[in-house]
Amino acid sequence: MSTFDVAVVGSGPSGASAAFHLAKAGLKTVILEKETLPRYKVCGGGFVYRGRKNMPFDISEVVDIEFNKVDIYMGDKFHFVTERENPIISLVMRDAFDNLMVKKSQELGVELIEDCKVTKVVNKKDVVELETTKGAISATYVIAADGVYSQMAKMAGWTNDTRTLIPALEYEVEVNDADFKRLSKEIRFDIDAIPAGYGWCFPKKNHLSIGVGVIIKDDKKIKEYCAEYIKFLGIEEIISIEKHGYQIPVTPRTDGYVKNNVFLIGDAAGFADPLTAEGISNAIYSGKLVAKAIAEAGDDKEKAAKTYTDIIESTIMPELLTSMKLAKLFYGSKLVRKAIMKKYGQRFSEVMTDIFMGEKLYPKDIMGKLKEKLKEKIISI
Ligand SMILES: Cc1cc2nc3c(=O)[nH]c(=O)nc-3n(C[C@H](O)[C@H](O)[C@H](O)COP(=O)(O)OP(=O)(O)OC[C@H]3O[C@@H](n4cnc5c(N)ncnc54)[C@H](O)[C@@H]3O)c2cc1C
Repeated sequence: MSTFDVAVVGSGPSGASAAFHLAKAGLKTVILEKETLPRYKVCGGGFVYRGRKNMPFDISEVVDIEFNKVDIYMGDKFHFVTERENPIISLVMRDAFDNLMVKKSQELGVELIEDCKVTKVVNKKDVVELETTKGAISATYVIAADGVYSQMAKMAGWTNDTRTLIPALEYEVEVNDADFKRLSKEIRFDIDAIPAGYGWCFPKKNHLSIGVGVIIKDDKKIKEYCAEYIKFLGIEEIISIEKHGYQIPVTPRTDGYVKNNVFLIGDAAGFADPLTAEGISNAIYSGKLVAKAIAEAGDDKEKAAKTYTDIIESTIMPELLTSMKLAKLFYGSKLVRKAIMKKYGQRFSEVMTDIFMGEKLYPKDIMGKLKEKLKEKIISI
């Protein structure tokens, strides 16, 4: 049986990031991936600058288009534009992006085993044994980076799923030249293209990634909303369309991120941003943090678990908690949303852009202030 210091299950941005930093710290690391790379991942592929600027290598070869300007719409009435010197959002196709991240980790010595699905987690005294479709593997530490449907979490002892999962659709749409020319000029978000959620149109090299996400609750009509959104965008001719649906975890687990030497990161832990559903940057960041915790702890497993938990509680978690409250307020009532956008639309867009840029954290006192101001505003509507 092959033995490693760390086995990372999943080769998405969280797993690839963890593997990269573990190998850099000198640990013998393997990535186990059930698919063959490069593989398609349902995702808008909008990579915000707070993630990009912290990448340990250049990713420009896999960036389709980058936007220094973002357009936020709410119906026909509101349109806010923010602009920055650096790309606010870099658009990637996830097959190429994830593959590059894995290749960079392989250059540092990470072993990749593809077509290798982990099917069972067995806890031994000093190691964790993983049964896979390619035989058994043992490791001192296991990182579950297997995404939103994390079977690893279930197999490792998280019997209840305490995250909130929301449905999202992603259509890869090839349109005629006139529509592509018109719609590829901007990266747009359409708040209220869907009740309690938003739509997006992200231009890629030769097609548009168009999607919708319901942020705070499930809605069976999501496919209808997406069809309406495509109409709303004024697309006259669809040359080809690939329709995909998946889920996004928009609240983190409340029962810990480490059990029996299995560490959860990325979507498996529930680290996507609750307000925007943007998950790539925290996936990559949590991969870096878990690698740091494990590398610093050596064989001291309790220390690794405590360090990782502490570091998540002091970095990612406060951001997610504020964002959760904002999401509830923002998507919970159309009246509140309208009041926010009418009175503070440009300011709200600027603050969100600063957060995307990694220049600001979510303002800690924002809830109290917003509630006060909104009360006044709603009374006057
Ligand atoms: C429709 C939609 C649009 C989105 N758009 C954006 C966006 O524009 N920007 C953004 O930042 N975020 C977006 N997200 C969120 C983003 O896709 C996720 O947050 C991100 O992919 C999480 O990365 P991850 O590494 O945790 O998991 P994933 O990227 O899901 O990777 C998990 C990997 O684990 C593998 N795996 C699973 N089970 C096993 C197993 N048992 N054994 C071995 N391997 C296994 C999978 O094959 C996969 O490769 C979107 C999500 C959806 C659904």
